[in-house]
Amino acid sequence: MVLEGQVALNEFIDIASALNQGTEKLQTASETPRLDAELILARALDVPRSYLFAHPEDMLDPAASARFFDVTARRAAGEPMAYITGEKEFWSMTLMVTPDTLVPRPETELLVERALMLLGRRATLRVLDLGTGSGAIALAIARERPLCEVVATDVSDAALAVARQNARQLDLGNITFACGDWIEPVADQRFDLIVSNPPYVRASDPALAGLAHEPASALVAGEDGLDDIRRIAASAGSVLAEGGHLLLEHGSDQQDAVAEVLREHQWVDIECIRDLAGQPRVSIARKRGG
Ligand code: SAM
Ligand code: GLN
Repeated sequence: MVLEGQVALNEFIDIASALNQGTEKLQTASETPRLDAELILARALDVPRSYLFAHPEDMLDPAASARFFDVTARRAAGEPMAYITGEKEFWSMTLMVTPDTLVPRPETELLVERALMLLGRRATLRVLDLGTGSGAIALAIARERPLCEVVATDVSDAALAVARQNARQLDLGNITFACGDWIEPVADQRFDLIVSNPPYVRASDPALAGLAHEPASALVAGEDGLDDIRRIAASAGSVLAEGGHLLLEHGSDQQDAVAEVLREHQWVDIECIRDLAGQPRVSIARKRGG
C-alpha cells in the first residue's frame, strides 16, 4: 500500500518537486546533487535544462516521472553522470564515453598541456598515446597540433570504437588507431613523443569501491599499481626517437616509485609535475641521445 502510494505520488509531481526529491536522493552519492538532478530531469523530459527553471510548475507525465526516478536511482547507486549522459567534457571537447571507457579526468589535462608545450606550435612530429580509452589525450593533441600525426592504441576494441567515433565527430584526419598490448601494435613505427595515462591503481586500494562502474582493466595495475608503468617504461624507448620524451600520468603517491622505474630503464632528465590540486601527477622522462 505504501509503495503504491509513493508511486502514485511520483506519477503526479511537478518539476520543482521532482528536482527537490531528486536532489535529496543524490545527497550522498554526488558532490553536485542539484545539478545532477537537473541534468537527469532535463533528459527525462527531453528539454534543455533552462526549461526547468522557466516551468517549475509543469506536471511530469507518469512515463517521464518513471524515467527520472529510475535514472536518479542509478546515479544514487554510484553510476557516474558521464555514463548516464553518455558524454564528458575534456579539453573543451564533448567526448562520447561508454562503460567500456574510463571517464576522462580533469587532472589528465595537465598531461595534454605539457605534451603541447614539448611539441611546440608548428611541430610536424609523430605522437603515440598508449591506452587511449575514449581518445581524450590523443584527440586533444591531434586537434591542437594539426600538423602532427597521432597514433592512439588500446587493448580494448570496445574502447577504440568509442575513440574512433570521437575522432569522426571532431572531424580529425591526423589520428589513427591500433589495437593491442602497449607498444606491440606499433612496434615497427617510430615516434617523437609518447604519452600515456595507464592503469595505476593498486589492486587493494579501497578507492576502487567508488570506481566500480568503470572498467577495472582501465584502472587496476597489480599489487603496487605500477605493473603497467613498468611495462611501458621497459618498452616505450624502442619506438621513441633519441632525445624524445615519455609522459606518464600516475598516482599522487607514486612519484618516487615511478622515477625509480624510469631510471632502471635508462630514462634521463626525469621530472614530475603537479596537478591543480597540488598533487604530483605526471612524470616526464627523456630517452638519451638526440
Ligand atoms: N587515456 C584515457 C584517459 O586518459 O582518459 C584512458 C586511460 S585509462 C586509465 C587506461 C587505458 O589503458 C584503458 O583504456 C585500458 O583499456 C588501456 N589498457 C589497459 N591495459 C592495456 C594494455 N596492456 N595495452 C594497451 N592498453 C591498455
Ligand atoms: N585517476 C584515476 C582515479 O584515481 C585513476 C586513473 C588511472 O588508473 N589511470 O580515479
